[in-house]
Amino acid sequence: MDGESIVDDFRRYFSHTLYRDKLNQSAYYVYTSLSLSLRDRLVERWKSTKYAYNEQDCKRTYYLSLEFLMGRTLGNAMLNLDVEPSISGALTKLGLVLEEIIDQEHDAGLGNGGLGRLAACFLDSCATLQLPVKGYGLRYEYGLFNQKVENGYQVEEPDHWLRNGNPWEIERPEFSVRVKFGGKTEHYMDADGTKRAEWKYTKDIMAVPYDVPVPGYRNGTVNTLRLWKSMATKEFDLSEFNAGSYADAVAAKNAAEHITMVLYPNDVSENGKELRLRQQYFLASASLQDVLRHWMNKHGNDFSGFADKNFFQLNDTHPTCVVPELMRLLIDEHGMDWDAAWNITTRTVAYTNHTLMPEALERWSVSIFGRLLPRLSEIIFMINARFMAQVARRWPGDVERQRRMSIIEEGNEQYIRMAYLAVVASVSVNGVAELHSRLLTQHLFRDFYELWPEKFNNKTNGVTSRRWMVSSNPALSSLITRTLGDGWTTDMAKLKELAPYVDDASFRAEWQEIKQANKARMAELVHRDCGVVFDTNALFDVQVKRIHEYKRQLLNMLHVIHLYDRIKRGDTADWTPRCILIGGKAAPGYVMAKRIIKLVSAVGKVINGDPDTAGLLNLAFLPNYRVSAMEVICAGTDLSEQISTAGKEASGTGNMKFMMNGALTIGTLDGANIEIREEAGDENFFLFGLTTEEVDATRGHYDPGAIIAADEDLRRVMHLLESGHFNLFEPGIFNPIIQSIYSSGDPWLTAADFRSFVNAQQEVAKTYRDKERWTRMSIINTAASGKFSSDRTILDYNRDIWHLPQVAAKTM
Ligand SMILES: *Cc1c(COP(=O)(O)O)cnc(C)c1O
Repeated sequence: MDGESIVDDFRRYFSHTLYRDKLNQSAYYVYTSLSLSLRDRLVERWKSTKYAYNEQDCKRTYYLSLEFLMGRTLGNAMLNLDVEPSISGALTKLGLVLEEIIDQEHDAGLGNGGLGRLAACFLDSCATLQLPVKGYGLRYEYGLFNQKVENGYQVEEPDHWLRNGNPWEIERPEFSVRVKFGGKTEHYMDADGTKRAEWKYTKDIMAVPYDVPVPGYRNGTVNTLRLWKSMATKEFDLSEFNAGSYADAVAAKNAAEHITMVLYPNDVSENGKELRLRQQYFLASASLQDVLRHWMNKHGNDFSGFADKNFFQLNDTHPTCVVPELMRLLIDEHGMDWDAAWNITTRTVAYTNHTLMPEALERWSVSIFGRLLPRLSEIIFMINARFMAQVARRWPGDVERQRRMSIIEEGNEQYIRMAYLAVVASVSVNGVAELHSRLLTQHLFRDFYELWPEKFNNKTNGVTSRRWMVSSNPALSSLITRTLGDGWTTDMAKLKELAPYVDDASFRAEWQEIKQANKARMAELVHRDCGVVFDTNALFDVQVKRIHEYKRQLLNMLHVIHLYDRIKRGDTADWTPRCILIGGKAAPGYVMAKRIIKLVSAVGKVINGDPDTAGLLNLAFLPNYRVSAMEVICAGTDLSEQISTAGKEASGTGNMKFMMNGALTIGTLDGANIEIREEAGDENFFLFGLTTEEVDATRGHYDPGAIIAADEDLRRVMHLLESGHFNLFEPGIFNPIIQSIYSSGDPWLTAADFRSFVNAQQEVAKTYRDKERWTRMSIINTAASGKFSSDRTILDYNRDIWHLPQVAAKTM
């Protein structure tokens, strides 16, 4: 584990395994070689972790997710193995710079945003807490698209992240499983006179697992993320080959391999494409077969103890095919009767809901579903028939309630409501912040809550301090360690002990100095990727997240335009210079979100190009927002923008990364913002905007025209927009945005929150001018951020839902 021997291995990998030499010093192979030598160190711990779990025959949880937004791995592996300083030293002797090697790694962008990053943080926490948890996902050939900005518009480019190979994955063809699609079911009586079903004439596809190591923080544990790749079966080739068409056989093989080709780039909204359903079933079936095979190795066909030792946590409804597929496998493949299979299913499945937004609620048309997965469709109808009988027993004669609660939505076309299926089968249903979980029981799942109040619970999200503090902000982390000792990394509640240091002037000075250095690092990124110069003495005001109307990047823009307007009319007394950064990807089909990106670019161009704003105001749009960019941004941010319409953001996790790194939040009473404010104290949070209740009360008589007419600042902002000031050469392009603000049906109530947003921003500006006060508030925010560690979240899941033992890997 010493730096010298790791670097020795590194040289062997580089010159022998990868056949590179001094004439061919491609930096990517330097990265690959170092990664392989690190991976070797992980492999030993990986095996001993597996042995420890097997020896104890402990209960396990499988975390199923269509997304794992892992980002980079090398830096994290070095941090968790505690070898970074020695490697860095040994590399220096070879004339190599560790940071440059780290920078070679492509982000593993197998997720859209918060939901996928949550899965990644959870895996980190499970390994650090030594919990036997395995992630199951898909090995997309193409991750989330790379975003370019051309003439201010988003352009998507494919993210072929595996192009140069991936040293962190290990293919496990020996554990491949077969997944069925299509065909039809036949019912028959078996020898014992039992009715049985057989799913026949299917087009099968192989699922090949690739394992990725998930190291715990300096504890010898390495858990597994198993990602499935789709491959053609051998018969597939053969049958076509025998038909005499070699080329068709190859083409058919290609089609089979399409399932895991690309991650769907939609955050929040579902697109309902059949290929997406194939992906979902592929993940569910392959993972369940894998778990059942592992069970049968030890227990044969005896599933009586299965529910005590296995648990499936569903990250949103995307993996909900697990419910009917587990039923199918237990009944059709393992001969169990319905009640026994249902008993196992309902004791081993739990569902995490991630949003209340109607466009995110997955529904699959029964005709598509039935054609692709006929046996699963039958099983879902049987689950629903039994469930409807239960509803009828509880509310006799309440046909309306049966209609409302049915897993099958009736109408011209029938749809399967995946969220209801998940709720009916789950032992636990959770939301991801206090407010969100409460709203779930009051609206979306109200009927279900009345039936099964005990199922519903909250698990406020969290993020891992290892990636989002120690790794992304080494200077701050080292100050905290020098102050508190090093236990805080795995016990974030300890950060509270920082609070008394707000009164220590030299501590505050160090805190400020570190923030300045981090701002310089962020300014470099902004300069490189946006071509805009940020002055580190200005307030760094940041909103990075997916571009979506509910997140209200547009409200942010109205404030920016208002600041620009103030400068133009000479209202700059007591001005606080600001640099505003907005970044994020829009779903490629989301026209309004893409228009908002264009607006940010266009306004930025005018502001940055106007000599009047020099030293007062800058605006940049950061292209290709991703995990590795956030690692730089969260450390350098002063002000975190969390300004969604109340009731729309389930939790948010970006808000937590910023808080840990000492940014102050301007935010609405939405998602985890509420809990952030509770922890930090009202006086250390810039609150604005309507509450959820006020938002609901406003609908129906919302009159943005009147609000605009009554507010001179907003009127002037709208006038600048309407006059085409930011789009002189592209007239009319922002009309749909302008109309949305004026629309009484604007679901995001942008105009309604303008005044209180601007007032809160004025308070921000005033506070920032008082450096010592700002620094105190910053320290208090970090000190109060312990609740938002994903370690706390995972301990909550484990205490209330999973009930896993902590199992230490044997030290070698
Ligand atoms: C944390 C994170 C998110 C989630 O951000 P929100 O502000 O909670 O929407 C999205 N993308 C990336 C790359 C992240 O790191």
